[in-house]
Amino acid sequence: MGLHFTNKENTENENIYEEALSQTQLPKYSLPKQSQSPELIAQLLKDELLMDGNARQNLATFCSTWMEPSVHDLMDVCIDKNMIDKDEYPQTAEIEARCVHILAKLWNSPESDTTVGCSTTGSSEAAMLGGLAMKWRWRTKRKALGQSTDKPNIVCGPVQICWHKFARYFDVEMREIPLDGDEVCMNPDKLSEYVDENTIGVIPTLGVTYTCVFEPVETISKKLDDIQDETGLDIPIHVDGASGGFIAPFVNPDLKWDFRLPRVVSINSSGHKYGLAPLGVGWVVWRDKQHLPEDLVFSVDYLGGNMPTFALNFSRPGGQIVAQYYNFLRLGFDGYKGIQTTCLKTAQWLADEIAKIGPFDLFYDGRGGLPALSYCLKEGDWGFSLYDLSDRMRMRGWQIASYPLPGNRQDTVIQRIMIRHGVSKDMVALLLEDLKQCVNYFKQYPQTHSGATSSFHHG
Ligand SMILES: *Cc1c(COP(=O)(O)O)cnc(C)c1O
Repeated sequence: MGLHFTNKENTENENIYEEALSQTQLPKYSLPKQSQSPELIAQLLKDELLMDGNARQNLATFCSTWMEPSVHDLMDVCIDKNMIDKDEYPQTAEIEARCVHILAKLWNSPESDTTVGCSTTGSSEAAMLGGLAMKWRWRTKRKALGQSTDKPNIVCGPVQICWHKFARYFDVEMREIPLDGDEVCMNPDKLSEYVDENTIGVIPTLGVTYTCVFEPVETISKKLDDIQDETGLDIPIHVDGASGGFIAPFVNPDLKWDFRLPRVVSINSSGHKYGLAPLGVGWVVWRDKQHLPEDLVFSVDYLGGNMPTFALNFSRPGGQIVAQYYNFLRLGFDGYKGIQTTCLKTAQWLADEIAKIGPFDLFYDGRGGLPALSYCLKEGDWGFSLYDLSDRMRMRGWQIASYPLPGNRQDTVIQRIMIRHGVSKDMVALLLEDLKQCVNYFKQYPQTHSGATSSFHHG
């Protein structure tokens, strides 16, 4: 027993919850002076993290929430690998390049072995890079013809927020074709009203965030062919395949949305969504080398070698990239196909069952797009709004997004359920029972208020 009650003795207490720190609130605004034992702090932090939702029950997100044990191992092995140091970690760089070529081939690039692409932190960064390449090419073309380059625009349907960011951050006008009537995605017939000589590209989404449907890239491409015949404007397409890029190749192989369409110059996708990699990796791939302007690529020589890089970030973890390659090798085409098909079947089953309950009108039933479903509330006095239902489902830990449609359909509120790898049929059956019980509860105890706001984002 020392006379001084030192920090060391303090942390040797057998019961973590009797430690001095455990009997206070954790510091929130300034750095504590003393060190503490790692076990104590880790336990207290784990306790605090219990307040987060349970990721596996989060059916509002598109992102991976279940990983094979080998992926956890590989992530640990890679924790000190910085993917930007391509000279220090040449094998990680090599693995990144392999992933790019595998994806280029999966998306039918005519030059998949030699084309360019890169990993990113997610589809958002990938979208910025794809958008910048289009802006640069448009500008070079216009300059060569002595035409003005001060008013670039992009044309799209109801896009994910990353494209609004791209437009604002890089000074490009956003022309979002609004949803009208019963439309659930971009209507290609409206394209000619929106594109002009300043359109750097059209951005269809394969797996619309709001409704989960695939926008008809082939029809959009044909419309742009017609527009070119009439006006001479040759407008490229970048496909936002954040989710669909890892679904369509496996379950809709005949759907032409990728580099099989000559107008498609680049594609982005999220490795951490249906690519099944852990959070923190996206991909962007160009149809061929010439579609990535060279003056966007920086050469880095202070890490040892002389390496080209095109990215918004600099240092970034290498583990997600290695985990992506692991999934490619471990699952192969058939493995991905099996997982995506299972998710689709589960989504379709749940959609059919939800339709039978009564109050719900299916919006998307899991057929033809992402493994997901969406529905709205039928006209009628059900005693609840979809926001009430989201809140009540949360009592059982389920997180289900409710939100208004964009464009001219903002009066329609829908609810969306994403089915991912690791969301089993049994879990979904439990969810269905909870949903039925909620509906019955509201029958008995109708909510007088409705339209309570929800903080759910759109994943
Ligand atoms: C999720 C998503 C994004 C953003 O992707 P992150 O990987 O989260 O950055 C962009 N577009 C679409 C269609 C998405 O679904």
